[in-house]
Amino acid sequence: MKFKQAFHRLFGSNKQKPAYPQNGMQADKSEMMQKMLTMLSNTQDVELTCDEVFAVLDQFAELAAQGEDVTGLMPLVQHHLDMCADCWDEYKVLESIIQNVA
Ligand SMILES: [Zn+2]
Repeated sequence: MKFKQAFHRLFGSNKQKPAYPQNGMQADKSEMMQKMLTMLSNTQDVELTCDEVFAVLDQFAELAAQGEDVTGLMPLVQHHLDMCADCWDEYKVLESIIQNVA
């Protein structure tokens, strides 16, 4: 009956394995959380939406036309304009309007 004992041992050690999936799940979860947090902090960093930029774009363009330091005054808007072609186009339109008026 040594065989049975050996089998029991194997079975016994197998029984301890269910701890693995749990640990694996925890690792996955915290890894996902980390990724999500990284994503959140990346997007929260200095991102404005196009709507938010549009809301202040005329002001921004006017200040820029007056030679103000818009990059220092509205760094978030400047940052968005660097990234977003749509808003940049809009800014250029506003800029030309302001220059034509002035
Ligand atoms: Zn935009």
